[in-house]
Amino acid sequence: MFLADRYIKGECPKCHAKDQYGDACEACSSVYAPTELINPYSTLSGATPVLKTSDHYFFKLSDEKCVAYLREWLDTPGRLQPQVANKAREWLEGDGDQKLGDWDISRDAPYFGIPIPDAPGKYFYVWLDAPIGYLASFKNYCTRVGIDFNKFLEDPKTEQIHFIGKDIIYFHTLFWPAMLEFAGKPYKAPNHVYVHGFIQLGGEKMSKSRGTGLSPLRYLDLGMNPEWLRYYIAAKLNGSVEDIDFNPDDFMARVNSDLIGKYVNIASRCAGFIARQCDGRVASVDLFEGSVFGQASDARIASREIAEYYDQREFGKAIRRIMDISDQVNRFVDRGQPWNIAKDPSESARDRLLWVCSDALEAFRLLSIYLKPILPDLAKRVEKLLNLAPLSWNDVNSPLPHDHKIGTYEHLMTRVDPKQLDALFDTPKETVSVTTPTPPSQPSPVKGEGASSVANATTITIDDFAKVDLRIARITNAEHVEGADKLLKITLDVGALGTRQVFAGIKSAYDPATLIGKHTVVVANLAPRKMKFGMSEGMVLAASGDAPGLFLLSPDSGAQPGMKVK
Ligand SMILES: [Zn+2]
Repeated sequence: MFLADRYIKGECPKCHAKDQYGDACEACSSVYAPTELINPYSTLSGATPVLKTSDHYFFKLSDEKCVAYLREWLDTPGRLQPQVANKAREWLEGDGDQKLGDWDISRDAPYFGIPIPDAPGKYFYVWLDAPIGYLASFKNYCTRVGIDFNKFLEDPKTEQIHFIGKDIIYFHTLFWPAMLEFAGKPYKAPNHVYVHGFIQLGGEKMSKSRGTGLSPLRYLDLGMNPEWLRYYIAAKLNGSVEDIDFNPDDFMARVNSDLIGKYVNIASRCAGFIARQCDGRVASVDLFEGSVFGQASDARIASREIAEYYDQREFGKAIRRIMDISDQVNRFVDRGQPWNIAKDPSESARDRLLWVCSDALEAFRLLSIYLKPILPDLAKRVEKLLNLAPLSWNDVNSPLPHDHKIGTYEHLMTRVDPKQLDALFDTPKETVSVTTPTPPSQPSPVKGEGASSVANATTITIDDFAKVDLRIARITNAEHVEGADKLLKITLDVGALGTRQVFAGIKSAYDPATLIGKHTVVVANLAPRKMKFGMSEGMVLAASGDAPGLFLLSPDSGAQPGMKVK
């Protein structure tokens, strides 16, 4: 087969970093043709690719008109971040063997892209059609909701802004503007392309193929709140191309101590008093403007500064300012001591309680507006709590009206549980697991990893081993699973740990009826895994080798369900 650029790896022709993809080097950011790689190999088979001749289609990127247009587009002040504009200019103005050539936009079958009309066996290169997908999706949306797509794009007020990762600058600052410009009306080149760095893990680049990373799907499977991650990323993000680091401890601290401990805390401290002592009605902060109160007016004054941070994509600065205000409001509530005033039945105490809590809640409403771009779902809960229509930035100057009735306080957000974070990074070893149906066999990656079960070079400490909670379990039921060729559904009695349901890939070796009553060993603290047929809450251990056969582990007689194996 013809190999796509990304299926070819080798040594970078510029900096000689090993194992670089066929289109660009991750070590030095050079862009090159896969034919320039030194010692290239196919990532599918490991074989050395062979060069073959084929006709290709090109986009005339080097045409004078095109170069002149791109030069002007790149040089427009404020269009791109300075370091991005410099990089793009380097590509555009390169000479010698760095000279910008025409862009090869066709690939030969088999290819996963879109066929080129009237060119049998030819497909559009993925980076030609991928950005078109942005507009195609938008057009689809327009059709659905009744917006005139052409009119919308042609409207001079319409801005087109892209947010991308730093590895695809080339495609979005040269090819894409050129495509749009020369496609003509209603299309026009992006007003801005904003570039972000990568999210790293403990200072290391994430890699799907190396199995190091943060899997968003696993994150969701574990029931973790997406808004925690949105908050954390925003708190670390700035307007530059820098990488940001995901640090689990920092993640937990920022969500639990800052977002919940500071911001959410304001509502949980004040809403109850309003509900119980003030008939659920707040006072208008306008009534005590200029008095000792004024948390809300301080919070309101910050709106312009925070809006500016958003415009500059300085999300981290916006969050820092929002948390500073939250701190200030909490100190105000500390001083106001509503929990003490609430015990005093006099009217003046009741007024004071009303004012403290109303001022703090109005400040909370403002903070919620500021956070809404990052936490839209949390904002919805706040709107319900405060009994308000969906908040927008314009509502900054419309404080809660006098006597406005708020809703009852319900939990706005749960805290991150450290166990969830442990489970997030505890990458399941699919190869050992018999609970997991084996995926259809993929061409083995590069070095034939996983081919040999003879040696395992990695040693672990006793502490690593102690993390695995192995228990004796009694099989109380085993049955076939309709539609599953490899799985049995097994019910386990794990003593004090209760009953567990496990899906095990042992159908080929065992008749379910013969398993009932047997004792075996189960990994009891494996994160539950949602499978097509239900939840699997552990993993039973079995031995297998190169020869056929699968052998469930069983303890010596006398071992009781729930006993620890160590
Ligand atoms: Zn390189």
